[in-house]
Amino acid sequence: MRAIPTLKIGISGVRGVVGDSLTPVLLARFAQAFGTYVGGGRVVIGRDPRTSGEMVWQAVVAGLLSTGCRIVDLGVCPTPTVQLLVRRLEAHGGIAVTASHNPPEWNALKFVGADGLFLSAERGRELLDIYHQGDYVKAEGARMRPVEARPDAVDVHVGAILEALGPLPAARRPLRVVLDACNGAGSTAGPRLLEALGAETIAINATPDGSFPRPAEPAPENLAALCEAVRAHGADAGFAQDMDADRLAVVAETGEPVGEEYTLVLAASHVLATTPGTVVTNLATTHALDAVAARAGCRVVRSKVGEAHVAGAMLRERAVIGGEGNGGVIYPRVNFARDSLVGMALVLHLVAAARRPVSGIVAALPPVHLVKRQVPCPSDRIGAVLARLRREHAGDRVDASDGVKVWTGDGWFLVRPSNTEPIVRLVAEAGSDEAAERLAASVAGRIAGWLDASPAR
Ligand code: MG
Repeated sequence: MRAIPTLKIGISGVRGVVGDSLTPVLLARFAQAFGTYVGGGRVVIGRDPRTSGEMVWQAVVAGLLSTGCRIVDLGVCPTPTVQLLVRRLEAHGGIAVTASHNPPEWNALKFVGADGLFLSAERGRELLDIYHQGDYVKAEGARMRPVEARPDAVDVHVGAILEALGPLPAARRPLRVVLDACNGAGSTAGPRLLEALGAETIAINATPDGSFPRPAEPAPENLAALCEAVRAHGADAGFAQDMDADRLAVVAETGEPVGEEYTLVLAASHVLATTPGTVVTNLATTHALDAVAARAGCRVVRSKVGEAHVAGAMLRERAVIGGEGNGGVIYPRVNFARDSLVGMALVLHLVAAARRPVSGIVAALPPVHLVKRQVPCPSDRIGAVLARLRREHAGDRVDASDGVKVWTGDGWFLVRPSNTEPIVRLVAEAGSDEAAERLAASVAGRIAGWLDASPAR
């Protein structure tokens, strides 16, 4: 099997392994390209607390300053805080230094446009063109200005959420919440928000020192400590963030993870109950969301997978809520960004209004029976596999805007190429866990059979 590449350059940013492919020279060049792209304007930067962050930050600062950019540095903060401050400060762009849920050896740059959204595919290609051409703006030393620090960025973010949603309604007993911040960028912001909302807060893994107390992906198998703490403290809910605090997973008062696909469903059910409107999500997200929207008389619009696609569609559709099934909630009254802080506020408002426990709220929602698989597939065969799927399902309802999505009798499946690895990503949802497993196994089996029947030359 081919080794997985350690450098990934794409329209959404650059990601690599520090000490290997992600060098200061490469990072500074990308920052020079971005500084050139924004015309030497004002750029907001922030980072997650991984230990390579300081090196990456220094290289980015050098590259941006060399193009004459004025830098506003937020320090360690959630990625959605960078996106919010770009808009609040009317900056020309932003860079979040974070490898999100990836392991400690990785780091990355994510580029934000003047509208606070991650760069779209088209703008990302423009930036990549500038990067590859290497003709960067060179400012004179006399024009360079010191980096401006904004240590209050998290307070601005918390304030924006409180302004949009208000504190939790007064109750005989405040909601008790355990937060697992993965020692990440949400370690300070999370407890501050929860306390501002009026929740009694117990924080675990909230020391942003660069250590990883668990794998950063907030998947159920990584949340044992949080589940235990929810039970031990008799908490009403548990929340888990990833390293840059854009994604959120919820644990019920029973100490059971409810699954990341439910985060957006919970947030949407609260928003639609109070402010009905259009919901936007990606093609791979659970259709339980459609059922929740239908109950409120609202529609769901689906975009390609990726935050930039979802946020772009939300702007066009004037959506009231949106996001992605991996725990990414986007609430436009605050931000056009996947934001775990907004997610926590919406879920707690839902719990407070429902006056029943998280497990009871989840039980009353349409069920989610969704499985995700990776199917080995050589990169040069992916096009043929997708074409064959389209052909064989010509009589079915199919969406081919991002891979191939096919509606089956009681469910659907989606097959998408990976840009970086010799696999396709498969998502299947059906009427029960067993049916979803069967559907995924049958699609994976068909793909494997096609590849075996006509092996690569
Ligand atoms: Mg993330």
